[in-house]
Amino acid sequence: MESCLFCKIVNGEIPSTKVYEDADTLAFLDIKPVNPGHTLVIPKKHFTNIHETPDELLGKMAIVAKKISDAILKSGAKGINIGMNNGAIAGQSVFHAHIHVMPRYGKDSFSLWVGKEYDGNEREEVAKKIRSVLN
Ligand code: 5GP
Ligand code: ZN
Repeated sequence: MESCLFCKIVNGEIPSTKVYEDADTLAFLDIKPVNPGHTLVIPKKHFTNIHETPDELLGKMAIVAKKISDAILKSGAKGINIGMNNGAIAGQSVFHAHIHVMPRYGKDSFSLWVGKEYDGNEREEVAKKIRSVLN
């Protein structure tokens, strides 16, 4: 896709700091890392998000994310957060599917989501809705 930032990175039109590459995927350092080593794993082919990415390719991306996580841990990180933002409302800003691999070192500014409570039957109703779409 011509106008896509990450496609331009795949094509070498925009420079990136690569850490891993194979026939289907590319992993490079995020330009604004949560912590040094924060890596983005992308498919070389353009897909907008998790929903559009074929299962087999998504599986390959997950395996690369694990490989990068192992390497980051061996390089000194104490833990890893893995995330994927899908859709603008979920914080996606680059619309080429990517998995964030984020090293954690202890004290940093990273914060996790805050859980809330279900009201009444809400939990069962929500599960019912999800199950009915799945089945
Ligand atoms: P999103 O918000 O879509 O989940 O994540 C997009 C990520 O891409 C952000 O963390 C952002 O810092 C990173 N990013 C944006 N532009 C560039 C760029 O030109 N090069 C690199 N390496 N990362 C970028
Ligand atoms: Zn793209």
